[in-house]
Amino acid sequence: HAPASLVAPAAIFGAGRTNSEGFDLSDEGTLARIDAARDCTVPDAAPLTVSEPAGTRVAVVNPATGETVAHVTEADAATVARAIGDARIWDAPAAERAAVLRRAADLYEENYGPIFAALAREAGKILPDCVGELREAVDFLRYYAAEGEHSSRAPRGIVTAISPWNFPLAIFTGQIAAALMAGNAVLAKPAEQTPLIAAIAVRLLHEAGVPRAALQLLPGQGGTVGAALTSDARINGVVFTGSTETAQIIARAMAANMAPGTPLIAETGGLNAMIVDSTALPEQAVRDIVASSFRSAGQRCSALRCLYVQEDIAPHVIAMIKGAMDELRVGDPWNLSTDVGPVIDDEARQGIDVYAEANAARVLHRVWAPRQGHFIAPLLMKVNGIDDLDREVFGPVLHVATFRADQLDRVVQGINARGYGLTFGLHTRIDSRVQEVSEAIHAGNIYVNRNQIGAVVGSQPFGGEGLSGTGPKAGGPLYLARFFAPDPVDPGT
Ligand code: GLU
Repeated sequence: HAPASLVAPAAIFGAGRTNSEGFDLSDEGTLARIDAARDCTVPDAAPLTVSEPAGTRVAVVNPATGETVAHVTEADAATVARAIGDARIWDAPAAERAAVLRRAADLYEENYGPIFAALAREAGKILPDCVGELREAVDFLRYYAAEGEHSSRAPRGIVTAISPWNFPLAIFTGQIAAALMAGNAVLAKPAEQTPLIAAIAVRLLHEAGVPRAALQLLPGQGGTVGAALTSDARINGVVFTGSTETAQIIARAMAANMAPGTPLIAETGGLNAMIVDSTALPEQAVRDIVASSFRSAGQRCSALRCLYVQEDIAPHVIAMIKGAMDELRVGDPWNLSTDVGPVIDDEARQGIDVYAEANAARVLHRVWAPRQGHFIAPLLMKVNGIDDLDREVFGPVLHVATFRADQLDRVVQGINARGYGLTFGLHTRIDSRVQEVSEAIHAGNIYVNRNQIGAVVGSQPFGGEGLSGTGPKAGGPLYLARFFAPDPVDPGT
């Protein structure tokens, strides 16, 4: 476990609370800050490069309202090529790099206004998620600074960082902070949907003292910017969080174009399950099921997708889930009583709607959602097991199956057989079962008698195995090592 100072770093938003769960509605300071953030405007974004950038200006749309939040200039191919040529490793001493990252963490906290505004308007994040995300980003900066400040190892060189829209500040910052702390030059490509928050973050990192040649921002399309940054022989490493399919495309492009041994650190999708046996406490299990499935509108790769409830208690538990779903408020991210915000864009909304229609016969329960904006009403579906899920549905959709006591082993095997291995949840009061199931299940993060989202930097490193990623886990002690040049004595590191 990390020292307390690492897991409870954020002074502004309530001492002693960490990460995404650390939101205290009764704290007047937090409420006042949210009110102030509401009035903040979100500035336009553009490539932040050493050479003069060029590209196409496009509107960034608020998923809750359809309104334009601001504009982004998406980098063209020539801008990306120049940025690779301009990239320079950050050869300041490690202690100095750590000091700069800590200064950036302070600047992030001070600039909560535009950060919350961008997270809510550009990514549709509800306010507790905005607070949790800022805290997680700050945790990453301070954690990797502490992990690396005494290291004298050499960096790999130029690292490409490609990040997702679902944690557009935290994951974006975590990748960059680790790569920079190891002294690399970073070329950061944020998700197409969330360039504005990325530009705010990079401006703050530059203001804190990260040299421009060590950190350039290249917003733009995957097919242009992402493809160029993963197929250029001058790149020495790629860190990626996103879909399993995109990770496979990147791996192939790297193998064809980059030096052998160039590392890909990928954190990808999941088909996460939870098992609730008949000894579980239904009240607690239901609270954790609902949080795991519907928090962040189900748009976490850690989210619960397939719940297995033991037959004897299933009617009771399912009735309670329906009741809890009826209490969920879906709507405006800025409204403090909202539980579920929009999904990220129209493509996501349509994809989930099509899925729900195609599987209409399975729907057990659905609640209300506004018609305007990209909202999806939380949905509960009956399945026979995880094999009925043909893919990861990235939204507020929970599948539920039942099992008999003598089928537990088969349930575990079925989950493993899908080949993913990100998060797994277990609710039971049988100690030996905790032991047995945890050993049998293939998953990076296993949570017992609690929800299965919201891993905490420094104390719950996050990452999967199999189709869910390459490791090492983000926010853990092995992550930074991958960003240094291989140790000549021990090339395996
Ligand atoms: N770290 C997040 C969690 O534990 C999930 C990250 C992701 O969705 O990519 O919930």
